[in-house]
Amino acid sequence: MFKTTLAGSLPKPGWLAETQKLWPQWREQGDALRQAKRDATLLWIKEQEDAGLDIVTDGEQSRQHFVHGFLEAVEGIDFEHKVKMGIRDNRYDAMVPQVVGPIRLKGRVHAFEAQIARAHTAKKLKFTLPGPMTIVDTVADAYYGSREKLAMAFAELLNQEALALQADGVDVIQFDEPAYNVFMAHVPTWGVASLHRAIEGLTCTTAVHICYGYGIQANVDWKATLGEEWRQYEAVFPALAASRIDQISLECANSRVPDHLLGLLAGKDVLVGVIDVASEVVETPEQVADTIGRALRYVPANRLFPCTNCGMAPMSREVAAAKLRALVEGARIAESRLV
Ligand code: ZN
Repeated sequence: MFKTTLAGSLPKPGWLAETQKLWPQWREQGDALRQAKRDATLLWIKEQEDAGLDIVTDGEQSRQHFVHGFLEAVEGIDFEHKVKMGIRDNRYDAMVPQVVGPIRLKGRVHAFEAQIARAHTAKKLKFTLPGPMTIVDTVADAYYGSREKLAMAFAELLNQEALALQADGVDVIQFDEPAYNVFMAHVPTWGVASLHRAIEGLTCTTAVHICYGYGIQANVDWKATLGEEWRQYEAVFPALAASRIDQISLECANSRVPDHLLGLLAGKDVLVGVIDVASEVVETPEQVADTIGRALRYVPANRLFPCTNCGMAPMSREVAAAKLRALVEGARIAESRLV
């Protein structure tokens, strides 16, 4: 009954890239790299199917990083002269490329991996793209002079790629917006406006993922400063409930988000994070079922999709695979508790 899915990214095998890193170096180049990306995509599709997930992804095996993987295909961006920038409101420093001129797509961004994934699974396929606000927060702007203008410019490019992904046979297109939990005040205005621009003309399911980040140390430290109750969602959910986005993916497992905030998303599908990506400890299926049970007090069963809190890119492969299995087993237990 519950359709299970994941936020998006999965760990890259050691023969594809450095492991347990957010910006890993590829192991190969040229054709050998393409082959390795293809193999890793197939491997994870099989793992997801074996775990029993209903909606699978390419595991983001073909992109180095969830934002920069998109930027690499954009003209007007200088990757040669990266600059150090504090991102997510200076939570951590990253070496980011610079916008140096009008941006446009050089061509397709994710055709290769989307088409491989589509050709090798009959399951529903979700594809993730970085959201406009999060892109703007992960690149240095030396041209547009306004975060809002830059977000709208990126939204147009995202829309172009999203329409092409839909034509490739993708069933769900998700925009990842961890920046929504940082720049809450801008979400109801240019945050949602840029998302709407990004989904223009799409007839497939659309989603936005908002989280407290990967399980990296900077995020763990940041969460420790957020107090007993994390209420960031309270500021952004009403705007998303009123938006044209179909699904909202959020963090619930081991988080201090008050459960009742999920009630602010009435009318939307809610992808409830029941797997903690900041811990290598694999949840028991019973723990997963308990988290689903808590969410069920605020989200109708037919709107609830058990999911991971966030991407699993920087984790170990074995742990990620075990967590996917726990997710599905937990969903089955939650169903049995309903009847
Ligand atoms: Zn996330």
